[in-house]
Formats: sequence, structure tokens, C-alpha cells
Amino acid sequence: MSPDAAQVAVITGAASGIGRALAVHYAGRGVHSVIGTFPGDPHDPEETLRQVKDAGGQAVIQEVDVRSTPSVDAFAQRAVDEYGRLDYAVANAGILRNSPLGEMTDDRWEDMLDVDLTGVLRTLRAGSTRMADGGAMVAVSSIAGGVYGWEEHAHYAAAKAGVLGLVRSVAAELGPRGIRANAVIPGLIETPQSLDPVNSLGPEGLQRAGRDIPWGRVGRPEEVASVIGFLTSDAAAYVTGQSLIVDGGLTIKMRA
Ligand code: NAD
Repeated sequence: MSPDAAQVAVITGAASGIGRALAVHYAGRGVHSVIGTFPGDPHDPEETLRQVKDAGGQAVIQEVDVRSTPSVDAFAQRAVDEYGRLDYAVANAGILRNSPLGEMTDDRWEDMLDVDLTGVLRTLRAGSTRMADGGAMVAVSSIAGGVYGWEEHAHYAAAKAGVLGLVRSVAAELGPRGIRANAVIPGLIETPQSLDPVNSLGPEGLQRAGRDIPWGRVGRPEEVASVIGFLTSDAAAYVTGQSLIVDGGLTIKMRA
């Protein structure tokens, strides 16, 4: 592996939202991406690729289902096969579902944790065995679970809280290899996930909630992507096992 070659990232859930914005951010920094796309969703990975190319970058598209270990292993391997190296693994893929506690069947609970917690484990694990010493990982948590509880979303919040313990432990274990692991904790970010009025706030709910955020609006995917980019960059070379809240001040405002 040439130390002068471009760095390479794998990003799950990169056909939309924060993951797409991250691939575009990396393109601007000369980092090549493997764009993870989940065939079960209607998002368009070709649009991510188009935006990466417009930004002067390089990327390839790879299908991945984070519920499957062989699928995630093949996804991480694509970086090595295509570009000869892997430097950054970003566990961004996630789902959000609404379920009152009394209706929280074991299946609903397990389906959620399979994607939002075990899917993160699978991604970081697959990255760790292929990554050069000195690489970096980021997992995407949420203020739901990472900071707050959220009614009718106990499974989501439990998974997102679990991500923080997972990242701290991975950071402790991989520190001696010079591999860092951190989490971001997004607040309310306008993406397909939050625009879903059934499982999340929907467009009107987001607009209403935005007025109560100190920054005056909900966040944009690029505003989370740039923080993930920072956490995987040398500017964060001594930062590991941490979680960074990206929420426009949502969680620091007291509500009387
Ligand atoms: P999004 O729905 O655009 O992105 C989620 C991505 O995950 C999608 O591309 C989807 O196809 C993919 N995905 C779903 N199931 C998958 C599976 N089994 N295997 C692989 N990929 C799968 O929404 P987003 O907001 O960009 O979400 C990115 C991350 O940010 C998620 O982990 C989400 O929970 C988290 N987050 C979002 C917000 C917000 O307000 N939007 C807040 C906190 C945390």
C-alpha cells in the first residue's frame, strides 16, 4: 500500500441523507468512497455518485445490507479490491420506527437492533480487519438515546445509546493500532428519515421543532457530514472514544 495513495472510506447508507453528504464531503478532500446502498430502499446511489464526481472525487457503489455479516464483509472488502486500501469506516446506516411499548414485540425490537446496533458492530468489525493501522471509524448515534429518551421509540433509543458504549470499547481496543473510533450524535437533521411523518417528525414537525432550536432551524446533512469528516481527519488525531453532538444547540436549551 502506497502511503501517497488517496485515502479510502466505506460509508453505509450513502445513497441518501447524511451518508450521501459525507461521500460528497470526502470527494472535496480527495478521499475515495465506497457508497453503500441498501436495495430495499428507493434511494438513488447514482445521484450520490454524480455529486461525488461533480465535486471532483472518485467513488464506487456497493450494495450492502448491514443485517448480514457476509454482505458487510463484502462491502468493506470492496474498498481493498477497488482501491487497494481502507482508511475510514463510517457506520451511518440506520432505520427509525415508531412503536408504543405495549406493542413492542420481540420481533420489532430485534429488527431495530439488528440494523441500528448490530449493523454498526458488523461495519466497524469488517473495517477493523481490513484497515491500515492509523485508520479511523465513526458511528452515527442520535440525541434520541445518546442524550434523551423518546416516547414510542425505546428500541431506537436503546440502539443509539448502545452505539456509544460500542464505540468507546472499540476505541479502547484499537488504540494500540493507532485506529480511532468516535461517534456523532445528530440532533434534528432534514433527511428522508426525519421527513417521514409516520415514524419521525415529518416536514411540518421539523419546521415547528426548528423554531425552538437556538440556531433557529433543523440541521442539514452536510453539517453532520463535515463533523464526521473532521473526526476521521488528522485534525482529530488525539480524539478517540468520544461522541460529538451536532444539534444547533437543541440539547443545551432549558425548557421551562
Ligand atoms: P436516511 O434514511 O437518508 O439514511 C439512512 C440510510 O440507511 C438510508 O440510505 C437507508 O437505505 C440505509 N439503510 C437502511 N437500512 C439498511 C440496511 N439494512 N442496510 C444498509 N443500509 C440501510 O436518514 P439519515 O438521517 O441520513 O440517517 C443516517 C443516520 O443518521 C442514521 O443512523 C440515523 O438514525 C441517524 N440520525 C439521523 C437523524 C436525523 O434527524 N435525520 C438524527 C439522529 C440520527
